[in-house]
Amino acid sequence: MPKCHYCEREAVVRLPYAKLNLCEKHFEEYLLRKLERSIARYGMFKKGERVIVGVSGGKDSIVLADLLSKLGSARLLVVHVDLGIGEYSRKSSEVVRRFSVERGLDYFIVRLLDYNTSIPELASSLRSRRPCSICGVVKRYVLNAVALDLGFDAVATAHHGDDISVYILKSFLTQDYDQLYKISPVNPGIKGLAARRVKPFYEFYEFEIEKFAEAKNLMYVSEKCPFKHIGWLEKIIRDLLEKAEEEAPGFKIALLRSHARRVLAVEGRSAEKPKACASCGLISEGSECSFCRLTRRALGYPLGLQVRRSIVSSAGFTIRADSKQA
Ligand code: SF4
Ligand code: ZN
Ligand code: ZN
Repeated sequence: MPKCHYCEREAVVRLPYAKLNLCEKHFEEYLLRKLERSIARYGMFKKGERVIVGVSGGKDSIVLADLLSKLGSARLLVVHVDLGIGEYSRKSSEVVRRFSVERGLDYFIVRLLDYNTSIPELASSLRSRRPCSICGVVKRYVLNAVALDLGFDAVATAHHGDDISVYILKSFLTQDYDQLYKISPVNPGIKGLAARRVKPFYEFYEFEIEKFAEAKNLMYVSEKCPFKHIGWLEKIIRDLLEKAEEEAPGFKIALLRSHARRVLAVEGRSAEKPKACASCGLISEGSECSFCRLTRRALGYPLGLQVRRSIVSSAGFTIRADSKQA
């Protein structure tokens, strides 16, 4: 590796899109500045706001929690959803717990098994849906419920630019404009129904997140979830975007920025009147929200209200009372 652009140390990473080689110290400073600028550029949250960070235990979310805690501008709560996927979930929950304790971060773990269900069970009852689509509904619901019921301003997730640019092209190619316009670095909240959702890694590449985790020797779960599935169209788009990025480093960031400009310009104008789920009271497109509908179909009853009640009643026990951020 050549020398760092800013000092005499050996570089640990090369960032072609920024034409920089950086040592460990300057790489961390660079990512922190980039994160700070992304948060400000898209108005994700303000200094001192209370922000939930969804942490699965994988490298992306661990790095996000690590960098956000070092940035120190928001008051963080790490939230993990234990999906009940056997050994994978056991390891993931343990990593999140250890990481949070070591960093002195407040954390909150919601276990599906406490509600006598799990992703494998929901997936086997609802065979017409892919496990990942069920899992997406569950995680979104839990993060939103924790944010609203415990009074947080925003929910941050670790979706990065490599994945988001694939979703943008996929939605365009399948002409799914509803989905296309939902993809955004910031989805504004709706009082009492939905918390603001933000993606601080919107302009981050996966390789820089991975390099950072490696350089800092961060603990994370490297095993893949047994349900992980990448469809053929996604593979084609991913390869195409990789080639474009090789030809023109920074191509994905340009695509993401121009998408964000369009979507953020449209969002304010087209806000549909939000509804409250008849079963749990959180945001819903129809009379019942996707989570309550999904659990009603799989289990015979909607689970939303029960999840919300137990979040409120268990919060005091699960959040670290001795943390400086409590
Ligand atoms: Fe959930 Fe799919 Fe991710 Fe597994 S791979 S954790 S099922 S979204
Ligand atoms: Zn340096
Ligand atoms: Zn509901």
